[in-house]
Amino acid sequence: MRRRRSDTAGCFEVARALQAYLDGVTDDATTQRIERHLEQCRRCGLEARTYLEIKAAMTRRIPVVDELALERLRAFASRIVEAPPTTGGARP
Ligand SMILES: [Zn+2]
Repeated sequence: MRRRRSDTAGCFEVARALQAYLDGVTDDATTQRIERHLEQCRRCGLEARTYLEIKAAMTRRIPVVDELALERLRAFASRIVEAPPTTGGARP
């Protein structure tokens, strides 16, 4: 399973593990591999930054995010009410 050739993660691996890495739940080896890759790969570095910004926005501006989320939920709900799914048969 382990590739001995490189101790740097590939883009695919980083993309898969990025969220876990940013949540701090990856093991030390994975963390190091990802960090090394992020230093070298601009694309993944940017991706990581985007995730971090989203996370920061979620923790720092809870009211704003909540409001937006609520609005989206409301719009979604009203859309469902206006146009119920056509699968049908579930209603009594
Ligand atoms: Zn990359």
